[in-house]
Amino acid sequence: MLLVEERKKVIEVANRAKNDRLIPLTMGNFSIRDKSTNYICVTPSGMEYSKLDPSDIVVVDLEGNIIDGTRKPSIETFMHCAVYRKRNDVFGIAHTHSTFATAWASCGKAIPVVVAEVATLLAGAVECAPYQRPGTVELAETVSEHLKDRNAVLLENHGLLAVGSNLDTAYANAVVAEEGAKIAMYAMQIGAMKVIPEEECKVLRRKTIEGYGQK
Ligand SMILES: [Zn+2]
Repeated sequence: MLLVEERKKVIEVANRAKNDRLIPLTMGNFSIRDKSTNYICVTPSGMEYSKLDPSDIVVVDLEGNIIDGTRKPSIETFMHCAVYRKRNDVFGIAHTHSTFATAWASCGKAIPVVVAEVATLLAGAVECAPYQRPGTVELAETVSEHLKDRNAVLLENHGLLAVGSNLDTAYANAVVAEEGAKIAMYAMQIGAMKVIPEEECKVLRRKTIEGYGQK
């Protein structure tokens, strides 16, 4: 079996998302891109995450062709492939339907930067890609386009996609986006929500990149 450790990691993170209530039922999908082969390990379509075995994870190439595995891959495999093709720095993707992020997505509105982590970790406001039918090439294209160089993007009337240099980071970014969405919604209800200005967001992001890692 190809990429056994990567397959196990995909299952671990999918279950974490389920336990953290970022996805209901079998919704959402998760993947890892292997650095040496560029092959993608992606969750199968419509299977319960708690029952997954590494052999249920499907290995596809960057075009979505099945390389290894007997299951039908997630219907959003093209979306994962499209993002990996556009972003050489991305090696993990978490697509969730978390409640607060999806609420913003259902208004077609970006999650504003009201907490610094949205600027430092996600690289700015989480923009909303216009609605396209789930599982289509059109959705894959619009999502990969609207992600730009940021680490999360909303899918109108659908959910959230977060990326990272590995799947743990992508998952953490999905959590940051959900928290940012929740706080922004409550802040709006309190009234006179203050958004961190774009220039300050850029400075915060730059300082994070420069200051990252051990000196
Ligand atoms: Zn979805």
